[in-house]
Amino acid sequence: MENAWKKYNEKQKKEVFSFTEGYRKFISECKTERECVIKGIEIAEKHGFKNIDSYLAEKKPLKAGDKVYLNNKGKDLALFIIGKQPMENGMNILGAHIDSPRIDWKQHPFYEDHDIALADTHYYGGIKTYQWVTIPLALHGVICKKDGSMVNVVIGEDEQGPVVGISDLLIHLSRDQMQKTAGKAIEGEDLNVTIGSIPLKGEEKDAVKANILKLLKKKYDVEEDDFISAEIEVVPAGQAKNYGLDSSMIMGYGQDDRVCAYTSLMALCEIDNPEKTVSCMLVDKEEVGSIGATGMQSYFYENIVAEILELTEGYDYLKFRRCLANSKMLSSDVSAAYDPNYPSVNEMKNTCFFGGGIVINKYVGSGGKSGSNDANPEFIAEIRNSWDKNNISWQTAEIGKVNQGGGGTIAYIMAKYNMQVIDSGVGVQNMHAPWEVTSKVDVYEAKNAYVAFCKDMK
Ligand code: MN
Ligand code: MN
Repeated sequence: MENAWKKYNEKQKKEVFSFTEGYRKFISECKTERECVIKGIEIAEKHGFKNIDSYLAEKKPLKAGDKVYLNNKGKDLALFIIGKQPMENGMNILGAHIDSPRIDWKQHPFYEDHDIALADTHYYGGIKTYQWVTIPLALHGVICKKDGSMVNVVIGEDEQGPVVGISDLLIHLSRDQMQKTAGKAIEGEDLNVTIGSIPLKGEEKDAVKANILKLLKKKYDVEEDDFISAEIEVVPAGQAKNYGLDSSMIMGYGQDDRVCAYTSLMALCEIDNPEKTVSCMLVDKEEVGSIGATGMQSYFYENIVAEILELTEGYDYLKFRRCLANSKMLSSDVSAAYDPNYPSVNEMKNTCFFGGGIVINKYVGSGGKSGSNDANPEFIAEIRNSWDKNNISWQTAEIGKVNQGGGGTIAYIMAKYNMQVIDSGVGVQNMHAPWEVTSKVDVYEAKNAYVAFCKDMK
């Protein structure tokens, strides 16, 4: 593998740093799927994308070169640039997920214990619970009120304001805890967030909790019951950082999979008048199995493709099925980058490295490739050809040694339409930890690889 940094001149290096600075800001600000959709729309609109709702309402036709997006329930974003070729020739599709592992407040979160107010939680996605204690945490989310209004919540991101956190036992009294296996050291039910300690004057019972509810009432005009219809996500507080003395990497929350989401979106923003229709979908719920109305297994994407067919050349069932079957997709998700502290989990010929550029995974899954999409070599050859022609740095990898573990993505879900799909993405260290790490050059190469894919796939 040739390290991608080596191929750049000074001007190109600057371009890498400036592109990834935009990414650093994006993940600093967007820590929930909803925040990613809102910011994603803002970026897309700046690049000429229009909300498809108005086209649908007015039955306004779409023509080659038109750029539209769909906001699905505030949690998925699907974008399309209409191509010159008929839809039945298929689309070139980029996909990534915008949900990340985190800790959610329960429906009834609030309680008090000896003058400390806490919020009870249920974690989301696969986390090592011990990584989430004793660090500054923020609250991002929404509270939906009975009158139909929605309150946006962000607490813990401004320099002067407070953060919250989850406590851990002092080492001095941890004799029993330290004997436990890592998975048991911090129990999931014990991830309780500390939120206050001042009792409300004149209140007899749960006075600290009462005081916190009073503060929330003042700030957001919400009652305790309103948290029944709320989504409050507990995430690491603070900005993503430049990482390494040479600032060659980024340390930030939620890079799985917002690194692929951001680069896919930015790639689409660089494309004008494509031959084939190109599309990008940023989806929710990957970390919990892609289920639900906003997960990839939902019909929302299929539905919007049908609508677009109707607005371009007129809906036709066969054309619709052919469109999906003839499409090609990069299902982008992060890969496990080589970590010098833990070399034993990798088989070195089939591992991805920082500086190696975008990663393609022919298969993921676990055990005997169980649950894997396992892309066709004909398709891989077409991708190799495109990326080599465009001087893209790319590498192939598996997630660790055979039988070491594994992972899944959204690839198999789109493959059921009989389209060609392959897993690709960016290598990450500390995957699913509060602070994940990527290499800036890999982030930049991924974006360029996505542009090439959208333009070149026949
Ligand atoms: Mn992922
Ligand atoms: Mn993940």
